Amino acid sequence: MNIHEYQAKAVLKEFGAPVAAGVMITSPEEAKAAAGKLPGPLYVVKSQIHAGGRGKGRFKELGDDAKGGVRLAKSLEEVAANAAEMLGHTLVTKQTGPAGKVVNRLYIEDGADIARELYLSLLVDRGSGRVAFVVSTEGGMDIEAVAEETPEKILTLPIDPLAGVTEADGEKLAEALKLDGPAREEMPGLAKLLYEAFTGKDMSLLEVNPLIVMEDGHLRVLDAKVSFDNNALFRHPDIAELRDESEEDAKEIEASKYDLSYVALDGNIGCMVNGAGLAMATMDIIKLYGAEPANFLDVGGGASKEKVTAAFKIITADPNVKGILINIFGGIMRCDVIAEGVVAAVKEVGLKVPLVVRLEGTNVEIGKTIINESGLNVIAADDLDDAAQKIVAAVAAAA
Ligand code: ADP
Ligand code: MG
Repeated sequence: MNIHEYQAKAVLKEFGAPVAAGVMITSPEEAKAAAGKLPGPLYVVKSQIHAGGRGKGRFKELGDDAKGGVRLAKSLEEVAANAAEMLGHTLVTKQTGPAGKVVNRLYIEDGADIARELYLSLLVDRGSGRVAFVVSTEGGMDIEAVAEETPEKILTLPIDPLAGVTEADGEKLAEALKLDGPAREEMPGLAKLLYEAFTGKDMSLLEVNPLIVMEDGHLRVLDAKVSFDNNALFRHPDIAELRDESEEDAKEIEASKYDLSYVALDGNIGCMVNGAGLAMATMDIIKLYGAEPANFLDVGGGASKEKVTAAFKIITADPNVKGILINIFGGIMRCDVIAEGVVAAVKEVGLKVPLVVRLEGTNVEIGKTIINESGLNVIAADDLDDAAQKIVAAVAAAA
């Protein structure tokens, strides 16, 4: 689960992180009063969407010369004018895709005098099997580009889970970031509290880009992007409350109610598969035959008829879906349950696109009989290769 920057900063502040004062608003009328609570004279108006690259982003409706999604303002009037221009408009950044995201919330923050912009993140490093810091002197910009062009400017530092962040780790980070003065002294403490926040709240990513050194020599967390491990959310009701469903895909929210592993994608072939590995293979083979999957969907091992029905409805409700491929290998999952779920769903919502079904495994004959006797217009397939070719051809023929 992702949260907004202002929420992430509030969480980090609980652990003692140095963040600026700020106020979140949802309407332009609140802008002046919000900024009035801050020290000034420099304010920053920041779009709150679940995507990075806001500073360099552009508002769709405002044309190319309009300023980005993070704006400096030098008076309360300027804050208000920017808020009015930004709220309710669609911000397009490198991470939102061309459709962009509507800005429903703004964070009005105290402006900082920036001397240096650095990069710091914490993530689960699968290589070392540890939580690791990734830091670089090249902050404020696209870290992927830094990794590609100047990898020597990035330090990855895995943390021993028993020892936690040691003084020596803190020194290494300060050294890599070329810190001196107060910032150097603050770095070990900041590293410790960020690590505590990461592990204590079961985060899967904590990215501070930029971490800044201010003109007065102190460190400040200027941007914060945090993701949490969904499997651990039950331990953190305070975090679960921060969820903003308007930032998420409606189909994914529906799928999560039924405990389905579903990810919406950009293609036009809807897939219903059991098992994550088989789902990945199904997506790959669709691509191999020149088409694109509309989703990843793993109905899981012991799915009920209701779950399968819900899954099928989510797929058919997607207007991008021009054909559906059901690919089931019945091990724990029984083919007849899948067949019953599909038939029930079609009875409810109808079927307007070609459907290819490949069933194999437990109760396959019963499953095939259920589908054949349902009167559904189904294209049967023998194996995965055959199924993928048939659905790609059927979608092409219908187009
Ligand atoms: P994003 O990464 O989505 O573009 P950031 O929060 O990193 O958003 O902001 C982009 C840039 O705006 C920063 O790199 C920094 O230069 C500037 N900025 C952001 N917040 C402040 C602030 N409180 N004071 C001064 N400058 C800021
Ligand atoms: Mg940033």
